[in-house]
Amino acid sequence: MLVVHKYGGTSVGDLERIENVANRVAKVRDAGDDVVVVVSAMSGETNKLIGYADNFTKTPSKKAMDMLLSSGERVTAALLSIALQSKGYDAVAMSGRQAGIVTDDEHTYARIESIDPTGMHNAISEGKIVIVAGFQGVNKAGSVTTLGRGGSDLTAVALAGALKADQCEIYSDVDGIYTTDPRIEPNAKKLDTISYDEMLELSSLGAKVLQNRSVELAKKLGVKLYAKSSFSDNEGTLISEESDNMEEVLVAGVVLDKNQARVTLRGVSDRPGIAAEIFTLLAENNINVDMIIQNMGTDGSTNLGFTVPQSDHENAKKIMAAFDHDIEGMDFDNHVCKVSVVGVGMKSHSGVAATAFTTMANNNININMISTSEIKVSMVIDEKYGELAIRTLHEAYALDK
Ligand code: ASP
Ligand code: MG
Repeated sequence: MLVVHKYGGTSVGDLERIENVANRVAKVRDAGDDVVVVVSAMSGETNKLIGYADNFTKTPSKKAMDMLLSSGERVTAALLSIALQSKGYDAVAMSGRQAGIVTDDEHTYARIESIDPTGMHNAISEGKIVIVAGFQGVNKAGSVTTLGRGGSDLTAVALAGALKADQCEIYSDVDGIYTTDPRIEPNAKKLDTISYDEMLELSSLGAKVLQNRSVELAKKLGVKLYAKSSFSDNEGTLISEESDNMEEVLVAGVVLDKNQARVTLRGVSDRPGIAAEIFTLLAENNINVDMIIQNMGTDGSTNLGFTVPQSDHENAKKIMAAFDHDIEGMDFDNHVCKVSVVGVGMKSHSGVAATAFTTMANNNININMISTSEIKVSMVIDEKYGELAIRTLHEAYALDK
């Protein structure tokens, strides 16, 4: 069997932890499996390097930043190979270039264009443990590029795809994907399996165990993904293709997103093009609009509401001022949050949304906005009820059972 392991920043946070990773990898090798290991920079390292550059200028060249930031992962890769060698294992550390990873030219946020796994295959066939510095590749001109924050997950999935590995295990300090954040609901349960789509909803909604782009790529390439902890021997959570019995489970999890602000526009002129103008201007200012709700127009005007990330709230306010002549009144609320219920079972079962609304009603929580997709129900509510909503929803769907 060929497996790809990826160890995140906290898992390789100091020398003792790198030694711990070396022992884990050695065990896999001893069991007879081939293993390719992708590593992150030691925790805090990437931010420290960004801080160094910041000391000189707030606008460093992106090409230089890639040269700088890619060094963090290379340190870990080299140290892990040395740790393994000291235990008598044949291990080789590779940069993104040596692993054959070619990207586009978008420095600091590059996309992987191709991977030539020949070098890795050769090393594997010589019996070596291959250790790859995550988060980086080179463009066609040969300059180092990085893949965006959290990009080592993406490296691991892409390599698993290129190597046709049997599975890709992503190690961090949490032992899998939970039905909700255990800090909010101590009865949260670890899930054995979850579908790619559910995982994408959960992570874009705020559960930050796996980088979103890496889950998208895993889905596209059909890579079997595991989220596991490097500090325990727990099974972890398998993220994979939707299977028939997954739909028997109504709801996989509930998530709270506190980073939400609500904008309500009252008495908006009900004419063709108005929504296009508003949302184009927001997009041009790089404001990510999430939920959008528009009522049926009456008497030539309508109400329009949407949510934006809290950090964009002030900016959205300024931008909306441009529409003064088209809008009677505006309302901004920074004290809202979004709670979402996610599950592929919703496709084939009715009543999931009704249960969510009833749960809010029973707790006297007013719902400001609602949006749904095939596998998700989201509600915008007052920020101060966010955690209560999560706990009561968790119970309503019997997620603790
Ligand atoms: N070291 C990079 C970061 O902190 C990449 C990663 O850890 O995945 O974003
Ligand atoms: Mg990470």
